[in-house]
Amino acid sequence: GQRNYSFMLRTKNPCGKVSNELYLTMDDLADQFGIGTLRLTTRQTFQLHGVLKKDLKTVMSTIIKNMGSTLGACGDLNRNVLAPAAPFKRKDYLFAQQTAENIAALLTPQSGFYYDVWVDGERVMSAEPPEIVKARNDNSHGTNFSDSPEPIYGTQFLPRKFKIAVTVPTDNSVDILTNDIGVVIVSDNEGEPQGFNIYVGGGMGRTHRLETTFARLGEPLGYVPKEDILYAVKAIVVTQRENGRRDDRKYSRMKYLISSWGIEKFRSIVEHYYGKKFELFHELPEWEFKSYLGWHKQGDGSLFCGLHVDNGRIGGKMKKTLREIIQKYNLSVRLTPNQNIILCDIRNAWKRPITTALAQAGLLQPRYVDPLNITAMACPAFPLCPLAIIEAERGIPDILKRVRDVFEKVGLKYNESVVVRVTGCPNGCARPYMAELGLVGDGPNSYQIWLGGRPNQTSLARSFMDKVKVQDLEKVLEPLFYHWQRRRQSKESFGDFTTRMGFKKLKELVDKWEGP
Ligand code: SF4
Repeated sequence: GQRNYSFMLRTKNPCGKVSNELYLTMDDLADQFGIGTLRLTTRQTFQLHGVLKKDLKTVMSTIIKNMGSTLGACGDLNRNVLAPAAPFKRKDYLFAQQTAENIAALLTPQSGFYYDVWVDGERVMSAEPPEIVKARNDNSHGTNFSDSPEPIYGTQFLPRKFKIAVTVPTDNSVDILTNDIGVVIVSDNEGEPQGFNIYVGGGMGRTHRLETTFARLGEPLGYVPKEDILYAVKAIVVTQRENGRRDDRKYSRMKYLISSWGIEKFRSIVEHYYGKKFELFHELPEWEFKSYLGWHKQGDGSLFCGLHVDNGRIGGKMKKTLREIIQKYNLSVRLTPNQNIILCDIRNAWKRPITTALAQAGLLQPRYVDPLNITAMACPAFPLCPLAIIEAERGIPDILKRVRDVFEKVGLKYNESVVVRVTGCPNGCARPYMAELGLVGDGPNSYQIWLGGRPNQTSLARSFMDKVKVQDLEKVLEPLFYHWQRRRQSKESFGDFTTRMGFKKLKELVDKWEGP
């Protein structure tokens, strides 16, 4: 008999932009062909779980017709390009979003290969601005495969998946340093965008007990004037295409290339393809984590409202209420890299009825959401991901409750928070290596504990303890939070505290812990 394979499908939405039409389509598809819930991802896209093979073609073509391409959402090529989701009508935000869309277009596969496979050769193409076509086809420094329908990817595509984020100074809602390429708008004193700072070589994935694999932060490559950005991005992608390791997938992300070469050599090879020298990186202000939750002014007379979605899973009453509001007011939405949703383009007069509808469904934040939940993330893991070795999404609600209980026990106030991220394997899809408390599955009933990330996601956590049994988490968390509460310097975050104390000292405190 024919087996009913179940598929997972991801959309592609640069900057998390989702039209009204696409949202309603995804909402329908989840009911008709999925498992009845919508899942928002850490790359500002939808994932539809549980699609059966026989329905795949219908689902794919429905999404493509509604302009949420699934092209390039998976595989060894550029993934969804991140940018701040907030619909601020500010020059820098708009330019960041436009740049993300242009980069996504530049790096979209050209051959129609996926369309042919997925929807019987029915090609749905969107017209592209000439400057993107020009940058893609430009071969002045030997960047292209001239005889391939894929000028940038060739027949082999990239050694591995490739991740890019674009943002504006201070706004680190995109976890900029965890991407293969991080692009930051640099504006002049009048707020007019002039160019870009570029970071390279971030990435989360690693393998347990293999010290030669590691999570890594992006580091400064240089600055380019704004008209050069597509050429610079292409030169970086081509450098990885030509030199990234293809013999072992564990080492094929660009971060390994950069760490083996060093940034100087990497820069000089990229400059060869780019045909110019990079200018000096501009100084940037401190990064901040932005959640955009609650009501905000867009800057064009309209409002937007950010809503927290636990683990990005929209189901039940939330799904029904969101659908009603989005349909009734014809709203477009944005998905954030923290798996939350933003309702956009809300007129002042609608604020009241929408607030009422949200409140009735218990969706008004942050009042009803534990502050720990606001910054927490978990990957899907069981039962949806074949790589999972332990629970993440299904386990995190209980873990957060236990963290909250420990907070209470050691006298930490309700408004205190730490960034908690949980994944079911070391692949790190929910970016646990940037968390203040990262739990990374390392056995069927245990997590590796990572400490030392910061609330604004600017430093890498380090692995603190291995194989901590799920039922024993308190034995580690209680002493850590107890001493944080008592010994921290003014306003010192948990991540900074653990870094300052040092892991040796913290381990002693955990070992001799006998309760508060
Ligand atoms: Fe799957 Fe691992 Fe990614 Fe979680 S971190 S979704 S378990 S691959």
